Amino acid sequence: MIAQARQLLKRLYGYDDFIGLQEQVVSSVLSGQSALVLMPTGGGKSMCYQLPAMVREGVGIVISPLIALMQDQVEGLKQVGVRAACFHNGLDPSANSEIIRQLLNNELDLLYVSPERLVLGGMIELFSRLTISLFAIDEAHCVSQWGHDFRPEYMQLGQLASRFPTVPRLALTATADEQTRNEIRQQLGLLDAPVFLSSFDRPNIRYRVLPKQGAKEQLLNFIKREHRHNSGVVYCLSRKRVEDVAAFLREKGLPALPYHAGLPADIREQHQRTFIQASHSIIVATVAFGMGINKPDVRFVAHLDLPKNLEAYYQETGRAGRDGLPADAWMVYGLQDVLMQRMRIQEANVPADVRQRDWARLEALLAFTEASGCRRQLLLSYFAETSEPCGNCDNCLHPPRTWDATEAARKALSCVYRTGGYGVSHQIDVLLGKVTEKVRSANHQQLSTFGIGKELSLNQWRAVYRQLLAAGYLEWHGEEGEGLRLHERCRPLLKGEQSIALKQDQPAAQWKEERERG
Ligand code: ADP
Ligand code: ZN
Repeated sequence: MIAQARQLLKRLYGYDDFIGLQEQVVSSVLSGQSALVLMPTGGGKSMCYQLPAMVREGVGIVISPLIALMQDQVEGLKQVGVRAACFHNGLDPSANSEIIRQLLNNELDLLYVSPERLVLGGMIELFSRLTISLFAIDEAHCVSQWGHDFRPEYMQLGQLASRFPTVPRLALTATADEQTRNEIRQQLGLLDAPVFLSSFDRPNIRYRVLPKQGAKEQLLNFIKREHRHNSGVVYCLSRKRVEDVAAFLREKGLPALPYHAGLPADIREQHQRTFIQASHSIIVATVAFGMGINKPDVRFVAHLDLPKNLEAYYQETGRAGRDGLPADAWMVYGLQDVLMQRMRIQEANVPADVRQRDWARLEALLAFTEASGCRRQLLLSYFAETSEPCGNCDNCLHPPRTWDATEAARKALSCVYRTGGYGVSHQIDVLLGKVTEKVRSANHQQLSTFGIGKELSLNQWRAVYRQLLAAGYLEWHGEEGEGLRLHERCRPLLKGEQSIALKQDQPAAQWKEERERG
């Protein structure tokens, strides 16, 4: 049967052979087994269900959350002679009954169904009157209740296992952190099914993270120096910032367009279309942008604000270099980002276990941003993949210099202890011996830590606090969101039992020069 699938691959799609894990997945489904398939975007997931659906007897049911994408796929399939249709709530009654007629007459190889249509009455009953070759659940991470793409309709898919025990179920996703993976297996009844995990490595993407020092100027310099005539995506956290950055880039002569959920739909579509069609275009966007966008020649993805977690970072940066040519994933981040994220998690109205999970995800993200080892290795390890240092990320190309920050860290931590709260700026004012209004009113010029940090600059102290926060020595605390406090973890450091090396922040300009020399 696999030979038959291979023939179809050649005849219908013109491909000589399977890529990656496709052959293994197809064989497994052809033998009637259910499976979970984890492949990065662009990894070739659709073949994994389209081919077995055609080879096996009956109709393959594909559940997918994006109607526009389903319609594209169905159009493509029809053009090569596959009998496919798309079932969603936007169909008029006659189109609707035509599909039902085709189904009952075994005239379809593939039926794409939107989640909304699926939960409409009668679907499961209709299915039970058909011979079904397989169920493919695309974007399966939508069953994850705490994920950002949660679709309540996907919960209905749990019953497929009991209603159709002999029909293989294939769950597919590009989202693969351990917890999401387990949730999918649980929800879709795949605990005993094999898991096919492809490599998530995108070797042509070069990862780079820099300390934020005037983000907009940094971005402008990066684009001007390295991507003067290229297309790229710039991600920002808020709509206001998107507008601001897009206007700034345009003012500097770059073809930048804003994209966020607050813009009218027609403007959004127009900007998206321009971006996809133009050979030189920059889209400045919130995370609302990207799902289902396939522009192969995106040469850079820039983050001006910290993404939500590593998963999101991987997805967002994964939109660069789809054509396989070199591309940059570039990010600046600073102390403020860490504080913002901590607040976001602290203030979110969610159950304790979810908050716990968000903390863990933030820790993983911060470990990535502050890493002094290979970033790719770290990113892949998040997806449970082991690899060697890549030689193609900032840290591999330019191993960061570290310095013995034991003394500085002790001063920084003691200051937090002595002030009993307060934010980073105030701690630094105290260390530098500045008599500000706040210092005076709290009488902090009397503290033993007042003025003991003059050997470092404001920026150096900010870097110290940022890294101490990222490493969890300090935590952000306070219902009024006002101060830092010590974490258990810093005890050995304060007691002189441990030393600490911190990374030296390299100015962006230096990085570039070194790169040219190297
Ligand atoms: P995903 O759904 O995982 O994002 P797709 O199924 O859309 O990926 O496939 C990504 C791209 O790879 C498509 O352009 C597809 O035509 C191509 N592709 C898939 N399978 C093969 C193959 N066996 N040989 C060559 N190209 C393939
Ligand atoms: Zn590396």
